[in-house]
Amino acid sequence: MTYQNFSLAQLQALDAAHHLHPFTDHKDLRGAGSRMIVRADGPYVYDSEGHRILDAMAGLWCVNVGYGRKELAEAAYKQMLELPYYNSFFRCSTPTPVLLAQKLAEIAPKSVNQVFYGSSGSEANDTALRLIRQFWVLEGKPEKNRVISRKMAYHGSTIAGTSLGGMSGMHDQLHGAVPNIVHVMAPYAFENAEPGESEEAFGLRAAKAVEDAILEAGADKVAAFIGEPIMGAGGVKIPPRNYWAEIQRICRKHDVLLMIDEVITGYGRTGEWFASQAYGIEPDTITTAKALTSGYQPLSALLVGDRVAETLTEKGGEFYHGYTYSGHPVACAVALANLDIIEKEGLIDRVREDTGPYLAKVLQEALGDHPLVGEVRSFGLMGAIEIVADKASRQRFEPSGHAAVVVRDHAVVSGLMMRATGDTMIMSPPLIWTRETIDTAMEMIRTALDKAA
Ligand code: PLP
Repeated sequence: MTYQNFSLAQLQALDAAHHLHPFTDHKDLRGAGSRMIVRADGPYVYDSEGHRILDAMAGLWCVNVGYGRKELAEAAYKQMLELPYYNSFFRCSTPTPVLLAQKLAEIAPKSVNQVFYGSSGSEANDTALRLIRQFWVLEGKPEKNRVISRKMAYHGSTIAGTSLGGMSGMHDQLHGAVPNIVHVMAPYAFENAEPGESEEAFGLRAAKAVEDAILEAGADKVAAFIGEPIMGAGGVKIPPRNYWAEIQRICRKHDVLLMIDEVITGYGRTGEWFASQAYGIEPDTITTAKALTSGYQPLSALLVGDRVAETLTEKGGEFYHGYTYSGHPVACAVALANLDIIEKEGLIDRVREDTGPYLAKVLQEALGDHPLVGEVRSFGLMGAIEIVADKASRQRFEPSGHAAVVVRDHAVVSGLMMRATGDTMIMSPPLIWTRETIDTAMEMIRTALDKAA
């Protein structure tokens, strides 16, 4: 049975009848129906009606090497025939997760050398939370179990991931969060800075919100701070330049572990392997997933710093935690082939030296003066456009979020896939984009903004 035997209307009816989608109002699907994406190649995806769409989201922040990579299909095929599955429990191992762990230790920040695998970013954050709580128990400080996070953070959608995240809508539906997680102000100057406040002053104030939360709880009660180096799903919120150095200073001062969530920023997006390297952060854990395999296989890797790993190994005994698919051989083989492509094609250098700075320049030049644009910002190949009703006062449209959805819908009709989150349009294209692809995308966004104005 192939999908070609079905019309779009039939597929949409089946979709609405049987398929519960993530983050979707299902009543909507009964009306307009889903766009069926049926194939993809390079930077493009194609829908069932033959429309070619430039994918400015790399799927969901993951297809960093672009679509249609035969090397990745071949790596999966070869591994599936040789050993499709075996687990890493009970004193067994298989070679690909071992080789991948070695590679990850090589590219990660210096003091990060151990890897715990899962299948998704959410799972990896669950692992991270369990691990750091266990760490403090093993250190003889079980009361050090609180975690400081930020409003608007996204750390996944399991119960632990949602609790760690700071999305208010998700919390409203949580009905029983993991306790002892506190959310403080995000380093989001566009909305949170005071009029006239300098970037540096705002960076210090946003970091101080973390220290205040530590002091309020008592440092002896705080296990860790968790943060995305650049908030992604919350709207590509790029912190002030001094923010992370100050956060690191505060965490070290109070002996609070630093859990860095690089599910979006990992594997080249910011022009370094990890954004931690771009910002000079020395994390205790780094959560990664998505672009680890460029989305070709589900795989996450929690990278664990030496301090936590040593305590776990030396004092821990058995850690009762793991997933059937921890270290899945096929996913790990694809990850190895994917990292190889990123390296051989110099994709990270290209982002750092060429396409990243170019995106920053043309976002400003092509869109900065548009009446609907309150601000553009980018870092590496992550970009955001704030949609406003009034440029001078930064007043938003009513109802909140609607205008960005209108712009997004115009963009997709003209052949560009972007995402709207709240009042912000965001992009995170594959790292294979060139200056020409960026120019094409800018024209399409400008047209979409004009139509929405
Ligand atoms: N952490 C961050 C920063 C993310 O952006 C995401 C997903 O977008 C997750 C965690 C959760 O990852 P997953 O959807 O693979 O569970």
